[in-house]
Amino acid sequence: MSEEKSLNFLEEIVEEDLAAGKHGGRVLTRFPPEPNGYLHIGHAKSICLNFGLAQRYGGKTNLRFDDTNPVKEDVEYVDSIKEDVKWLGFDWAQELYASDYFDKLYEFALTLIKKGLAYVDDSTAEEIAAQKGTPTEPGTGNEYRNRSIEENLQLFADMKAGKYPDGAKVLRAKLDLASSNMHLRDPLMYRIKHAHHHRTGDAWCIYPMYDFAHGQSDAIEEITHSICTVEFIPHRPLYEWFIEQLELFPSKQYEFARLNLNYTVMSKRKLLQLVTEGHVEGWDDPRMPTISGLRRRGYTPASIREFCERIGVAKRENMIDVGLLEFCIREDLNKKAWRRMAVLDPVKLVIDNYPEGKTEYFSGENNPEAEDGDGSREFPFGREIWIEREDFMEVPAKKYFRLSIGGMVRLKNAYIIKGESVVKDAEGNITEIHCSYLPESKSGNDTSGLTVKGTIHWVSVEHAKTAEVRLYDRLFQVEDPSNEDGDFKDYINPNSLHIISPAYIEPDLANAIAGVPVQFMRKGYFVLDKDSTVDKLVFNRTVTLKDGWVKK
Ligand code: ATP
Ligand code: MG
Repeated sequence: MSEEKSLNFLEEIVEEDLAAGKHGGRVLTRFPPEPNGYLHIGHAKSICLNFGLAQRYGGKTNLRFDDTNPVKEDVEYVDSIKEDVKWLGFDWAQELYASDYFDKLYEFALTLIKKGLAYVDDSTAEEIAAQKGTPTEPGTGNEYRNRSIEENLQLFADMKAGKYPDGAKVLRAKLDLASSNMHLRDPLMYRIKHAHHHRTGDAWCIYPMYDFAHGQSDAIEEITHSICTVEFIPHRPLYEWFIEQLELFPSKQYEFARLNLNYTVMSKRKLLQLVTEGHVEGWDDPRMPTISGLRRRGYTPASIREFCERIGVAKRENMIDVGLLEFCIREDLNKKAWRRMAVLDPVKLVIDNYPEGKTEYFSGENNPEAEDGDGSREFPFGREIWIEREDFMEVPAKKYFRLSIGGMVRLKNAYIIKGESVVKDAEGNITEIHCSYLPESKSGNDTSGLTVKGTIHWVSVEHAKTAEVRLYDRLFQVEDPSNEDGDFKDYINPNSLHIISPAYIEPDLANAIAGVPVQFMRKGYFVLDKDSTVDKLVFNRTVTLKDGWVKK
């Protein structure tokens, strides 16, 4: 979009910093995913924001894996995250890992202990929680809080050396048990976890907490603007306190509202449940709000970036309608996708007065929305064709302008036909429609003088290829499944996948290429699925042509 837009609040902050000459005019952001799942559309928002902001001001962005929790993390996730960020169209300056800083973070912890600002606490998690007080009552200290520096240094070294089991001790910041901000009431810095880490192996059995790792990692990398979501606002004073006490590079934290999308869930924990419990086929199931799911569904990077741009940057959380995402992909594909004909719910139509055995080739533009039509392709026509069952009504309803007995319609890029009779099976279902055609009504050379109101798509029976077509609906039946009574999975839409097989497609579609979008005329935008084989083509519907979804 070319119209001038006003700056969002993060751009304003960066511009002020630049004007004040802060950090020598340098802008360095980071995208810090925890490799414990696949990225989703919410992460895309964060990616577009972090990378976009740096790009706009000549800066750079680091990709930093926040891998401080060995139990849930995996290289599979690291690889998928890299693939997804690249696919969205962004290049990181450096690929970094919080785990690379474990030595430094340990040194930082020692520094705080030596300053009398951290102590080893033997309390259980329950005891610590009980001693924390409530928002209206201050916390109470315990006997461990007054340990000497020497004792703390020794105990912390012993924790690192593996002398204690999980949960036996923690390292806490000695901060302010009376603070109105619960996060400042002696927050945990380290916990004991005898677990194998996907990068550091068994080198460590103590792992830093998010609050101690994140800000320090930012400072080590000299990140100028550390952007996170609003739930971290109460963590900001702690972020600043650690940096100040350790006298590190003054990275600053800024918060924006996370993206919430309706009719789906976005927490990685919930998405993981959908995968492991088999509610979907995998992280890249086309119904998932993951980047890999959207990609497989046929979404383009440009459409996702445009979506993130349109929702803007807010400070207060809100719910974005998935219709906006669908709008963005329609806009993009309308410009890019080639048009082809495919019949999803076929019924045979016989043109009685068309010569048996004859084949004619018609031609149609690849994309009438493109300036030069994007070239054209040819497709065969014969005496027998497939049309959509819904494009015929024996007795037409009011305002029904498609085919009926006695009614006329144009076959796209071909002839005008007139319905004559039907053949039915024992149950009364129509198995064949018979019609006549007007030879003088040929598209592009129509001398019939007739105008008809309807045009329908079709595929030649003799030449059609078959395909499996997968139609998707929303994964959940309610707008905010996480906010309903009971389990979010109770609200899964049982009809979120509808498989059609066989659908008949024009022969040229046999050459469809994975990832290249195509419009099945009147039926929506589709993309070849990775399940396709030479013998069996599989298409996913990305989105319908119009927003046809009405609240049930
Ligand atoms: P989830 O709750 O889905 O597991 P997370 O916040 O734990 O997400 P991280 O891997 O820690 O996931 O997130 C990496 C970055 O992406 C963080 O800066 C986080 O704030 C941001 N992010 C995560 N979810 C969203 C969202 N829905 N909207 C915007 N940014 C998000
Ligand atoms: Mg997280």
